[in-house]
Amino acid sequence: MAKRERKKLVEKHPVSEEPYNRIALHDYLHGKPRYRVEGDARYLCAKRAVAVAFEIHGGRCFYCDKVAKPQKLSQHWTRDHIWPVSDGGADILPNIVLACGTCNRSKAAKPLTQFDEARAITFASALLGQLRAK
Ligand SMILES: [Zn+2]
Repeated sequence: MAKRERKKLVEKHPVSEEPYNRIALHDYLHGKPRYRVEGDARYLCAKRAVAVAFEIHGGRCFYCDKVAKPQKLSQHWTRDHIWPVSDGGADILPNIVLACGTCNRSKAAKPLTQFDEARAITFASALLGQLRAK
């Protein structure tokens, strides 16, 4: 993948709603993207940015659409790697989503295509749209 396409992938989350739409790429430090979250002054890695954005802006479960008010992550609200880390998935913004504890435990280390095929197709389309934009 070309460098410009990689940058597009980490610039913003393919899910264009709270809290992902409050996260923006700031710059790169030692080759890793750093993000800013609306309402927070820090420079954050992707994983931390999703957690902080959820604490400030709330969001909903990527899998079952359950809505949550702003709060800290806990066993009830978690981050999930769409492509499991145990299977080589990276800690980059488009690979991290919010999941309620029930969905996260149920998905476990399954690839998204096995857990929820319809959501996998929607998500892949959003990623493609992001690559084609601009
Ligand atoms: Zn859920």
